[in-house]
Amino acid sequence: MKYYSTNNHKHQVGLSEAVIKGLATDNGLYMPERIPVLPNDLIEKMSEMSFREIGYAVIGALFSEDLSEKQIKELVDHTLSFDAPLVQVEEEIYSLELFHGPTLAFKDFGARFCSNLMSMLVKEKSKTLRVLVATSGDTGSAVANGFLGVEGVEVIILFPKGKVSKLQEKQFTTLGQNITALEVEGVFDDCQTLVKQAFLDRELNEKLMLTSANSINIARWIPQCLYYFYAYSRLPKNEKKVVFSVPSGNFGNIGAGILAQQMGLPIAQFVAATNVNKVVPEYLHGSPFQAKPSIPTLSNSMDVGNPSNFPRLLALYGGDEKRFRENVKGYFYTDEETVEAIQAIQPRGYTLDPHGAVGYLGLKDFMAENPGYVGVFLETAHPGKFRDVVEEALGEELILPERLAAFLEGEKKVIPMGKSFDEFKGFLEGLV
Ligand SMILES: *Cc1c(COP(=O)(O)O)cnc(C)c1O
Repeated sequence: MKYYSTNNHKHQVGLSEAVIKGLATDNGLYMPERIPVLPNDLIEKMSEMSFREIGYAVIGALFSEDLSEKQIKELVDHTLSFDAPLVQVEEEIYSLELFHGPTLAFKDFGARFCSNLMSMLVKEKSKTLRVLVATSGDTGSAVANGFLGVEGVEVIILFPKGKVSKLQEKQFTTLGQNITALEVEGVFDDCQTLVKQAFLDRELNEKLMLTSANSINIARWIPQCLYYFYAYSRLPKNEKKVVFSVPSGNFGNIGAGILAQQMGLPIAQFVAATNVNKVVPEYLHGSPFQAKPSIPTLSNSMDVGNPSNFPRLLALYGGDEKRFRENVKGYFYTDEETVEAIQAIQPRGYTLDPHGAVGYLGLKDFMAENPGYVGVFLETAHPGKFRDVVEEALGEELILPERLAAFLEGEKKVIPMGKSFDEFKGFLEGLV
């Protein structure tokens, strides 16, 4: 399979380059040049298949030109090492719980797939791959845990000192093994600048194989389509049309759902639900796309004013904006509405996190306006991950899942780092 750049259809590369480079040299996002369509009877049969069996079929269709059957099996098994249960919350409304992985957020799926695929692709090169990640929280923990113990790959995480929540910090500073955390004397932008400078430094790139594993990498993006197939297969069989509501920030997750739809999964409609960072809902209502500075909210993993996957969404519709706006409906919600949703659903025995709450609200509004649907919203994080917000909304203490509580006990290990590039470069050169 070739992957083209969203900035230039003629700029095409193979799998290995697309994954190790991450971003195309013209700054475009990579897209598969062809989207394979699965036969209907296979999709029908998925209701009797396990999550992993579904994974082999879907990943096989996308990657069999480049990977062996054994590699595909290993990738899927490594990625789907935890479940994604579909839980009924109300009549015709289901929550797809994507928070059962090591860091309790859906990014675990993409991070695990990406780490395993990178490890396979560098084995042939017999050189250590260094993954540089600047993080303000969640990305660092998902990437670190996804890459933990993966052969041939070392992860270096840069985070701003004192600017990351204690729990998030613990999730990437206590791991050890092939994960190193650098505590940078500065803010997130300083971390990001250091990483960008490292990628541009010719000397450094001659000595070390560096990559970014950021969220626009196809190896993080594509595997997210798997849980749409799985969720669909677990819905009760009836005549109702299916709508998926996706709480969105950078719009990678919903894009992977649209990919699943184009691979033949009969999803009738998508809802893009956001907080007040509502650039895409406004676009879907007919405005031109207009990036804005981000606004802090309670659902802070979606505080994105310039969604990086937007060009990828346009590419999926071949640039046809009318089709895009028909297939995806946009809704946005304030923090008050988010808190009210968490409170309203609790008596039914379900606890939402602030991101899932936004997805739930979008689904409810869409279904009120459009009868005849069965709906699934993606619950993208465990409520315990946003403990302060949820406890304040509900006025009661949450019980943290064991794997989250376990992180709090680990010992923090970091290397202090200034914000000068020379110091960072010196550190990287010392790794050779
Ligand atoms: C990253 C994230 C999102 C947003 O996903 P995108 O793919 O960026 O749209 C939503 N919820 C949670 C909990 C996240 O961590």
